[in-house]
Amino acid sequence: MSDQNFLSILTGSFSTPCGDNPTVAMIEAGYKKAGLNARYINCNVPAENLKDAIKGAVAMGWAGFNCSIPHKVAILEHLDDVAESARIIGAVNCTSIKDGRLTGHNTDGKGFLASLKTVTDPKGKNLLLLGAGGAARAIAVETALAGAKTLTIINRDPKKAETIAKIVNDNTDCKATAGKWEGDYSIGEDIDIAINATPIGLGDAEALPPIALDTLRKGLIVADVIPNPPKTRLLREADSKGCTTLDGLGMLVNQGQIGVEIWLNKTLDFDVMTKTLKDIFG
Ligand code: NDP
Repeated sequence: MSDQNFLSILTGSFSTPCGDNPTVAMIEAGYKKAGLNARYINCNVPAENLKDAIKGAVAMGWAGFNCSIPHKVAILEHLDDVAESARIIGAVNCTSIKDGRLTGHNTDGKGFLASLKTVTDPKGKNLLLLGAGGAARAIAVETALAGAKTLTIINRDPKKAETIAKIVNDNTDCKATAGKWEGDYSIGEDIDIAINATPIGLGDAEALPPIALDTLRKGLIVADVIPNPPKTRLLREADSKGCTTLDGLGMLVNQGQIGVEIWLNKTLDFDVMTKTLKDIFG
């Protein structure tokens, strides 16, 4: 008998549409480099099939899966446990399966935080968030739990910013305030870290969130959630003013790495995963 093992560890993703999601390439490159007999299957799962997809994953002994649009909130009712930050955010994008029990996590904010920590610790810092969608909510909760002193959240629709500020104020020691985003926003001198959490710049290297460029200053950290192109116009403008900049590619790779740590307790190679995405994005 051969002592080879032809049974792979199974992980993957449930979302729709999903044909343009490159996470499978990034994670499988990491698995290969680590010599792991593991697969990441990108599954097209419409909303009405989520329950059956989860049952299938449990039945087949999957270690865990990511989920994206449209499942991040709907999945909550199918879980046995929800990690603290995912509970506060109210959305799950990563689920682990252990002994048949499903535990939900949110790695969006954790991926951002890991990336941010390569340049600074948000503890005691004043943060500005541009945008109040799902990414902003995850970043707000995770940085607040990590000890951010204040969060200023601005959005075209101020109600969404107010909702996030309330979540942060109700669940953490961080003091969050919300405002309406009108015209070119001036970044206050008290702000240590400014974050673009809108889709402005995605697939458009010249798009720029409406901010007063003369308020970008040396010493300010400017982060973007946009992974493609990684060097957005916002980051190029910030570089030219002497700011420290962080791209959304790092956030995306960290997020993938953290998911695999949750499922398999293994840390995949950051550089291999980054190079894989860079090659795909061109
Ligand atoms: P949502 O649709 O949930 O939220 C989008 C937010 O951006 C809203 O607050 C919206 O404002 C605001 N917005 C959109 N267009 C404009 C505009 N032209 N001017 C001002 N504000 C605008 O999206 P997500 O939060 O899920 O995603 C946002 C971005 O984050 C996406 O591009 C996504 O690719 C990226 N992302 C990156 C990740 C990574 O790992 N790098 C992980 C997750 C997301 P309003 O409410 O007024 O409409």
